Amino acid sequence: MSQSSNGQVPEMPASSPGPSFDVLVVGAGFAGMYLLYRLRKLGLSARVVEAGGGVGGTWYWNRYPGARCDVESMEYSYQFSEELQQDWVWTERYAAQPEILKYAEHVAERFDLRRDIQFETRIESAMFDEARGRWRIEARTGFGDGKADTIVFDAKYFVMATGCLSSANMPAIEGIGSFAGPTYHTGQWPHDGVDFTGQKVGVIGTGSSAVQSIPIIAAEANHLTVFQRTANFAVPAHNAPLDPNVQAQIKADYRDLRERAKKNRNGIQYVPNDVSALEATADERRAEFQFRWQRGGLSFTGSFNDLLLDKNANDLAGDFVRDKIRNIVDDPEVAELLCPKSVLGCKRLCADTGYYETYNRQNVLLVDISNNPISRIVAKGIMVADRTYEVDAIVFATGFDAMTGSLLKVDIRGRSGLSLREKWREGPKTYLGLAVAGFPNFFMVTGPGSPSVLTNMLPTIEQHVEWISDLIRDAETKNVATVEATGEAEDDWCAHVNDIADETLFPTCNSWYLGANIPGKPRVFMPYIGFPQYVERCEKIAAANYAGFAFSRG
Ligand SMILES: Cc1cc2nc3c(=O)[nH]c(=O)nc-3n(C[C@H](O)[C@H](O)[C@H](O)COP(=O)(O)OP(=O)(O)OC[C@H]3O[C@@H](n4cnc5c(N)ncnc54)[C@H](O)[C@@H]3O)c2cc1C
Repeated sequence: MSQSSNGQVPEMPASSPGPSFDVLVVGAGFAGMYLLYRLRKLGLSARVVEAGGGVGGTWYWNRYPGARCDVESMEYSYQFSEELQQDWVWTERYAAQPEILKYAEHVAERFDLRRDIQFETRIESAMFDEARGRWRIEARTGFGDGKADTIVFDAKYFVMATGCLSSANMPAIEGIGSFAGPTYHTGQWPHDGVDFTGQKVGVIGTGSSAVQSIPIIAAEANHLTVFQRTANFAVPAHNAPLDPNVQAQIKADYRDLRERAKKNRNGIQYVPNDVSALEATADERRAEFQFRWQRGGLSFTGSFNDLLLDKNANDLAGDFVRDKIRNIVDDPEVAELLCPKSVLGCKRLCADTGYYETYNRQNVLLVDISNNPISRIVAKGIMVADRTYEVDAIVFATGFDAMTGSLLKVDIRGRSGLSLREKWREGPKTYLGLAVAGFPNFFMVTGPGSPSVLTNMLPTIEQHVEWISDLIRDAETKNVATVEATGEAEDDWCAHVNDIADETLFPTCNSWYLGANIPGKPRVFMPYIGFPQYVERCEKIAAANYAGFAFSRG
């Protein structure tokens, strides 16, 4: 067994741990908040540690213009409390970031969560102390004001609820530091907003955050230059105020909507069309694609049952969207650049509001960097080959080190000092995306190998949190000292995740699902495809006394 990155077993520090809890949870997004609620119900002592200054996670950090969910608000919300889901009133079909943050704050208030959350504190390392059967977790607090302090927590269970998209990816472009103006990352947006009025702005990236922010920045700025490496598919969101009658109808039988959603691969409620695109006639295909396009949102991939299984079927959907782009965008050369060449849906599909139309504005320029990457950033702007595009501000819409980024930023060490970074050198290995062999009493919410980013994440988070807290309850009831995934169960799970992915088109493009956006990151398809199958597996495992987990008594 590999011990640490330098091959040595690190010594357990002699200093005695500080605050002691049954469970230490990292992250106060929707996952950490709900976990705290559940753990309290079990009568366990828990502390949530959060790097940010408030709750909400994703929605605390991503305050860029246009940030909103692309799963409908009525579904992108908790369902564990009937009173909560009845009381809360959403105002738009797809809620914007301020409304989702307000919702997270309301939940924190309603369930009195803040008293067990420690903000502005970042977990830096965690080590399992085999002699004591407990985790020793080190955190830095007060960073920002220059007076950093170290706190050491002691806990029996250690849970990373650090999110799949919480580690911002800044590309290593030469000369970034020499830029004379301000730079922003969409995932770390200033809390008091940014006014681009009268400015020349450069946006680097054309993924989801770029698709949402570009129309708004273009309308505000004097000029916008967009640097595109890969064109992405976007379908219209058709966002609109939420009709109170529709909201009331859903609330009258919320359970029904939630149950229907759970039956779909991505945990989102829509009626998939169980017909092959290849067997439909050209007219039937056009009608179905048009119907989904008109309805708006991510259910477009449910137009036919083989879009993510068969490249020929997928090309038909891709052609439909490419035709739409050519119809919307006036300049044929720009339209061609915006037409994605990849498989529709194998990179995250974007839901847009006026994205393609934005390229008809006189103040917007699209720069293709697929063959000529950005060579450097200089004081006045962004250089591609020998040409400098002058800008006053740069927006990095360059996404995240997804799924493993925030986990591996923490130096986590299990039995015999085994380092998670070392264990995952060739790619993440987990059991159910929730546990790791060699790391007792350690869990992750929406870890690699779970459905997470391929689903509506709120129900996925709830399912994980309930499953993990049920397992902890079971272990505590039986007076168990440690619970830990077995190596065999982990190997089987990883093989199963890969087998399922290999039956689809998902692994065929350079997506962040594969780690392809981060130089040097191992290419492993990380999410599990199929929410209903995943839930069924988890339930069977729990019913079989948590098969695949080893329990030890103290
Ligand atoms: C712009 C954007 C739009 C999205 N839209 C959707 C959508 O429409 N539908 C959908 O299902 N999902 C969407 N997602 C995914 C979204 O991340 C999840 O839906 C959900 O909010 C994740 O909640 P979480 O609690 O698991 O993680 P997060 O919300 O990411 O929270 C994790 C928290 O952990 C903290 N943290 C991380 N590391 C440490 C550390 N070492 N020490 C202390 N604290 C730490 C972070 O500060 C963060 O607050 C979107 C993501 C982004 C970025």
